[in-house]
Amino acid sequence: MTKGGSSVLLIYTGGTIGMKEDERGMLTPFDFDGLIESVPELSKFTCRIDHYTFSPLIDSSDVEPGLWIRLAEIIRDRYDEYDGFVILHGTDTMAYSASALSFMLENLSKPVIFTGSQLPVGRPRTDGKENLISSVEIAVAKNPDGSAVVPEVCIFFNSQLLRGNRSTKADATSFNAFRSPNYPPLATAGIDIRYNRKMIAPATGKPLIIHTELDTRVSILEVHPGITPQVVRNILLGPETRAVIIETYGSGNAISKDWFIQIVREASAMGKILLNVTQCLAGTVNMDLYATGCALRDAGVVSGGDMTTEAALAKLFFLMGSTKGNAQVKSLLDKNIRGGITQ
Ligand code: ASP
Repeated sequence: MTKGGSSVLLIYTGGTIGMKEDERGMLTPFDFDGLIESVPELSKFTCRIDHYTFSPLIDSSDVEPGLWIRLAEIIRDRYDEYDGFVILHGTDTMAYSASALSFMLENLSKPVIFTGSQLPVGRPRTDGKENLISSVEIAVAKNPDGSAVVPEVCIFFNSQLLRGNRSTKADATSFNAFRSPNYPPLATAGIDIRYNRKMIAPATGKPLIIHTELDTRVSILEVHPGITPQVVRNILLGPETRAVIIETYGSGNAISKDWFIQIVREASAMGKILLNVTQCLAGTVNMDLYATGCALRDAGVVSGGDMTTEAALAKLFFLMGSTKGNAQVKSLLDKNIRGGITQ
């Protein structure tokens, strides 16, 4: 139940949820008032709902770390004023933004819920209304002692509340757009919103700290049959990269050919951070299982365990921004910092 006296800040960054067709039939963003007019149900909440609108509104394909920094600062500056925060965001990069915010907001004691929709909120069959209304409900949900039920960065979509840094966009067209393959939903919305309390990380009780130093010198190398030494060399040895996420097959296997392992060794010898994440939707990297995985481990590659690529990228940006030492970053990558990896 929503309690009177509660308050939510709705942060509108853009995305399909707030778009409408222009005269050419293209989806373009419309303003916050237009969006709210389409969801009159919001006025039935007894809590106060304020809003902060980004200008310009963006399609989330244009999201950059600067937007994450703005979001972290907006939340920090208004942290004491609100019980929770709902971020309206395009679905395309929502899992990246939710992963990033999870690392940037340390000691979170209030919900930060990302949501959006596959169909604009003005369309009759929209999924946006349900997503928005339930997100507001979750953002103000309290335990009997007054603490927030979900003091985490999450994504709410298609009746499920997912941990942000465990989520990935897995379907371009279905309303069921997001998955959290390696961690169960934190809540499911039916007649009631049922919280999976055992799986929700408790608040630390310490003051919120925001981390806005991000080092983005990361590349992603997705191995595939037919990949050439030139391509691997360009990505792994490029002077601009401090870290490379290697998206491997299955449980962390890559090409066992000498040329590949040689380039990996060379990158490692240059001091680069090399992180192994699986291309599979679910499951974990285990570099002790197959000879090809062992070869990567012996060449200095760190296991990304069951992290999503989105979480791995965000964790690297955050850790590299916080420390100059690559050895320290490597030692923290497989540690559970905000619940983004199973240990
Ligand atoms: N391209 C849109 C975006 O990510 C898609 C969406 O919102 O679903 O902003």
